[in-house]
Amino acid sequence: MVKRVESPSSINTFKQCKRKYYYSYIEKLPSVPNIHQVRGNMVHSVLENFYDVDTTGFTEENYPLKCKEIIQTLALHYWKQYEPKLKELHLSKDNEMFYFEESMLMIMNWVNHFIDDMRKVMEKHNISCQEAFNKLTPIREQKFMSEKHSIRGFIDAVHHIDDEVHIIDYKTNAQFEMKESIKLQLAIYSLLYEELHGKMPHKVGIFFLRNKLKIMNVDKELIQLAKREIELIHAHTSLTEQKKDYPRTITGLCKWSTGKCDYYDTCEPHSTT
Ligand code: SF4
Repeated sequence: MVKRVESPSSINTFKQCKRKYYYSYIEKLPSVPNIHQVRGNMVHSVLENFYDVDTTGFTEENYPLKCKEIIQTLALHYWKQYEPKLKELHLSKDNEMFYFEESMLMIMNWVNHFIDDMRKVMEKHNISCQEAFNKLTPIREQKFMSEKHSIRGFIDAVHHIDDEVHIIDYKTNAQFEMKESIKLQLAIYSLLYEELHGKMPHKVGIFFLRNKLKIMNVDKELIQLAKREIELIHAHTSLTEQKKDYPRTITGLCKWSTGKCDYYDTCEPHSTT
């Protein structure tokens, strides 16, 4: 059987519930769109495009205000662009407004951190705000593909900070812990980066948009974790694509007070068949 191309998200799905992996990646049943996905995509678009703005009018006095104005304009623009997808969710007006305001708060939180970083970089290197902005501009939405490990990933931001490389992912999560699934995602990014560049990144982290950046050092152990999990999934998915070999893992992630697994109705986790 041909080796499947996996991703951090497919591996984490496999680890959470093999049946869910089967429905999503083998049977390819459509997933159910939800506000968290749509909002997450919208926020990512804003942050990705923020760095393309024209900074010629920035001065030492006005750059904090300019950054805030620009990002607010971008947020409005992308919220409008995602309107057709939002309509499909049939949210009430109040609910839609709630998610818009919450997204705006996350974006403003992020830009406040960015403004703070700009100030620090300007002071440290004694440079202009345009130079600081350029220094802080990462490589964005980079696709990494490893033939050797049969794995691919999209990295939100690769920062070159002085002599260090930092890989950052943005998350809109309500919780800010570095869960095992997040650690594995970052481990896989580190492996992909190492394979392409011949050296490990120095740090990897998550910018929790409701909170702040959380970062960790990359070491050989982290790379080994990625290799081990990648081998485990290939060992299973290269052998069989039969539904019976992808058993259900029934937990609170099947159904909770405000939602359910995308495949809950197909899977019927609480039936005995
Ligand atoms: S409903 Fe539960 S058991 Fe079924 S696929 Fe989803 S997570 Fe797995």
